[in-house]
Amino acid sequence: MKSVLQDLSYSELENSILSAGEKKFRAKQLYEGLMQGKKISQINVPQTLRAELLKSYEDEPVKIIKTLTSSDGTEKYLFGLADGNVIEGVFMKYKYGNTQCVSTQVGCRMGCKFCASTLGGLVRNLTAGEILSQVLTVNALHGGTGRAVTNIVLMGSGEPLDNYDNTVKFIRNVSAEGGINISPRNISLSTCGIVPKIYALADEGLPVNLTVSLHQTTDEGRARTMPIAKKYSIAQILEACAYYFEKTGRRYIFEYTLIDGENSGKEHAERLVKLLKGRPCHVNLIRLNEVKERALKSAEDRQAYAFASMLEKGGLSATVRRSAGADIGGACGQLRANYINGN
Ligand code: SAH
Repeated sequence: MKSVLQDLSYSELENSILSAGEKKFRAKQLYEGLMQGKKISQINVPQTLRAELLKSYEDEPVKIIKTLTSSDGTEKYLFGLADGNVIEGVFMKYKYGNTQCVSTQVGCRMGCKFCASTLGGLVRNLTAGEILSQVLTVNALHGGTGRAVTNIVLMGSGEPLDNYDNTVKFIRNVSAEGGINISPRNISLSTCGIVPKIYALADEGLPVNLTVSLHQTTDEGRARTMPIAKKYSIAQILEACAYYFEKTGRRYIFEYTLIDGENSGKEHAERLVKLLKGRPCHVNLIRLNEVKERALKSAEDRQAYAFASMLEKGGLSATVRRSAGADIGGACGQLRANYINGN
């Protein structure tokens, strides 16, 4: 595979253009073109420069190969990468702006029992430019040169903190002034809880919203569905989150996917209140998207709202996540899994 030009920050691009003996303003033309989601071959620079670049760089590192559109406007994409791998993304329209969910890895090695992304293990990390290109491609699709995507959630396939350097580089590049300039405050990073990396992220000086997939109230219970729980305890996660708040001033979020008979009872709500009360956090309750390869069942809507009100009565801030694009279905990773299985 060739390299990905979108990996480069503006100053890296400028250095590379200057060292190739080109004029500085060519870097600006290229950068502007890339930020508009153009292929190298479509950018208005001399043909010789384009040809030179195309020897080393992918013309189109990420392209949409399939789109599913929901009646509520949500779009789900299957993206093709230059090496033939596929990843997914989702574009959701909200009153206050549009959110894009991006993937950070092809597959995932975290092994969560409810998640389709992990079914075939980790294939490879995405580069910073491959993560950015998902946003650039969707921006171009929806807004031409405008900014269709206003918010980003790193909640697609993969564990962002297991691809730490590329993820941080992506956040820096996507939020760079002069680029598409999406503020870190409009970016949420979701992790299964890789504790040392939460500390590292807190020290980056990037105030992204930290979201932790908790899904259980005890370490033993958590380890049943999330192997990472054998490595880091809930207590360690809570300490890391407190540090994150101290460093960034950002309230953090816990995701809690309600699985019938597993974590959605009254005793779970009570334990969750005990664990989280008084902390600057919010609980996002998610209804499980049932994955056909897994035997787990979703809690019913009624149970989800009852669970939310138990948390609120206990003094927590909690909401049941709106389930966008329900009719196009597909939990994280299902579109890809179906594609790979030939459906
Ligand atoms: N690896 C990261 C980000 C990707 S998963 C993480 O673990 O947070 C994004 C969110 O979707 C996580 O909260 C994850 O637990 C949740 N998720 C995965 N599969 C799901 C499913 N089938 N139904 C509902 N939520 C799911």
